[in-house]
Amino acid sequence: MSLSIQEGVDLSALNTLGFAAQAERFVRVDKVEELPQLHSYLQAHPQPVLLLGGGSNLVLGEHIPGLVVQMAIQGWELLSEAEDEIIQLRVMAGESWHSSVEKSLQQGLYGLENLALIPGTVGAAPIQNIGAYGVELKDRVHSIQAFDRDTGDWCDLTPADCAFAYRESRFKSLEPGRYWIWAVTFTLSRRPCVDLSYQALAQACGSQSPTPWQVFEAVCRLRRAKLPDPKVLGNVGSFFKNPLVSASQYERLLRQFPDLVAYAEPSGGYKLAAGWLIDACGWKGKRREQVGVHTEQALVLVHYGQARREELLALAAEIQKDVLMRFGVELEQEPLNYPAY
Ligand code: FAD
Ligand code: NAP
Repeated sequence: MSLSIQEGVDLSALNTLGFAAQAERFVRVDKVEELPQLHSYLQAHPQPVLLLGGGSNLVLGEHIPGLVVQMAIQGWELLSEAEDEIIQLRVMAGESWHSSVEKSLQQGLYGLENLALIPGTVGAAPIQNIGAYGVELKDRVHSIQAFDRDTGDWCDLTPADCAFAYRESRFKSLEPGRYWIWAVTFTLSRRPCVDLSYQALAQACGSQSPTPWQVFEAVCRLRRAKLPDPKVLGNVGSFFKNPLVSASQYERLLRQFPDLVAYAEPSGGYKLAAGWLIDACGWKGKRREQVGVHTEQALVLVHYGQARREELLALAAEIQKDVLMRFGVELEQEPLNYPAY
């Protein structure tokens, strides 16, 4: 078995913004055993490395220096079935996230339904602790299986090791690139109990006690109505995180903007709906040449085709400036720029 490293590979079909991007070198990893080989190769040939899943949370520049590693390891394994109906399910990193959610339900394993239709791979899901409709990945993770590039060792990380936070983790900000995640082990349930804490979802279910399948279908319906399909219109989902502010800043803003959309956080602060802030600055549906703000959700920036990332980032900077001027709130970009600049 040897790694097949290609030169000059076009990544335009491998990132959901559809930006033209050319990798200096590219390798696809299909087997876990290839990771130590890759590590040895990189020790002999040091260069920048980008691990790529589905490219749905990356804003790529035109030239990607070094090696792009596409994590394509496939597979599923039920690890344990305890009497209390709690299951450990291991899914390999290269599996599609949404297909895995659907397959878990087909097998009568419940807990991932609120996270339906999120693009990308299972291995990338822990990077920003994906979340939607009141559930975050961290709520369902038993452990993460990874290869540690710093030590050259295999490791099993507990949720506490991963420093999961709101759209954040140890993998995203503290130690980017250190861990190559090859599998995620979930704790799921055979008992069909659902999380309806998110009002829009509870309303969309149309029943007081929906089944997990009904929740899955409601999430898919809501998302299809509001979010652009990356196969049709380039995007990376929410371009900014919802900003967290103190209670006093929230009260000040609410006095000035009585329609402000915000949610109380367990920490005592408030999470502001970034989409509302952007919409209130008049950006929803605006277009600048080949990039723009989605008509149905102002938090999503879109690429109509033929633009470069500089144009999208210039639009993002204009939006950030307007929101700061009007509300005194800084919007932080959620997807990662690569190369950083
Ligand atoms: P990529 O974009 O390929 O990579 C993202 C980061 O993870 C990169 O830093 C990469 O190096 C790293 N990485 C990838 N694979 C691995 C691995 N195996 N090991 C280590 N590092 C790795 N996000 C949400 O949280 N909630 C949502 O509801 C949501 N909705 C979305 C809707 C749309 C239409 C789109 C386009 C995006 C949405 N996203 C959402 C963002 C995105 O889908 C998720 O962040 C997703 O987990 C990214 O997966 P990916 O495989 O595409 O990762
Ligand atoms: P929405 O329902 O219009 O709500 C706007 C924002 O308000 C959301 O971002 C959400 O924060 C927050 N919110 C709404 N109800 C809430 C509640 N009961 N408790 C706490 N917070 C609440 O949002 P949307 O754009 O249609 O998205 C629906 C869900 O999908 C959200 O959870 C969103 O995060 C997720 N999503 C994420 C991405 C991404 O790329 N990250 C893209 C599309 C959708 P939260 O974002 O913290 O949930």
